[in-house]
Amino acid sequence: MIDEKTEIERLKKDCIILAHNYQIPEIQDAADFVGDSLGLCQEAKKVDKPYILFCGVDFMAESAAILNPGRTVLMPELKARCPMAAMLPAAQVREAREKHPKAAVVLYVNTLAEARAEADVTCTSANAVEIIKALDEEEIIFGPDKNLAWFVQQRCGDKKIIPIPAHGHCRTHILIKREDVLELRKKYPNGEVLIHPECTPEVQVLADRICSTEQMVRRARESQGREFIIGTETGLLHRLKKENPDKIFIPALKKMICPTMKMNTWEKFLIELRERKNVVRVAPEIAERARRATERMLELSK
Ligand code: SF4
Repeated sequence: MIDEKTEIERLKKDCIILAHNYQIPEIQDAADFVGDSLGLCQEAKKVDKPYILFCGVDFMAESAAILNPGRTVLMPELKARCPMAAMLPAAQVREAREKHPKAAVVLYVNTLAEARAEADVTCTSANAVEIIKALDEEEIIFGPDKNLAWFVQQRCGDKKIIPIPAHGHCRTHILIKREDVLELRKKYPNGEVLIHPECTPEVQVLADRICSTEQMVRRARESQGREFIIGTETGLLHRLKKENPDKIFIPALKKMICPTMKMNTWEKFLIELRERKNVVRVAPEIAERARRATERMLELSK
């Protein structure tokens, strides 16, 4: 009987495995590429094997299918649907456009393909400020995360950011409270506090740096510091520790675990790699329009 590792290597001959930074350690270790939404979009575009096994949530796998339509995109669990992405239906984007006809529509990639098809450009937490600064419009309709909208507004004072929906949020990132960070600052006075912009403004203001997951990875590598308090989904700690074995990483909140990301279990991963049944489909007319908005993001963030 062949061992699991040998079997995975054999199954990967016609399949690239892409995994988000919040996936379980075993999946991250088996992947060809681990990264944030932006990095995963860029990698998905380059894939030349017939299959992509995308280990993340629905909107990310949709991005891969949209950017590389010649490949079959699979997910270990098709029910891994991001609740924040589901907060913004396409009709609400159209309504906002009617209400603010002069505004550009910038949507976080954490949005379903139907809504993204209504956008002028998409963005990630790593490039949201850069994208918005590059636009001529003074008014920006931005969704679905109100906390990322707040972060962007602080850095783009000459623009008016209009968040849609008013209550959009990531249920995992809003779990961290001010007290959690203040307590850890007392316990680790030399620790650098890195906070994700999906956290609430009250928590963001306590950060040494507000970073996307990939920016956290870079900062941990480049900083002279030895201790880091990490304010994002705890899946990222695996990569941080693996890449920086001599540094210490403390989760800002241990229970900051996204249940949707964790629906991709090791068992489901293996089954999908073998059986290839969970195909991600995006209607061609939606994909075509959403591709334009996503390609524009990739051009503007070069
Ligand atoms: S961490 Fe938040 S934004 Fe990311 S998939 Fe989970 S619920 Fe969605």
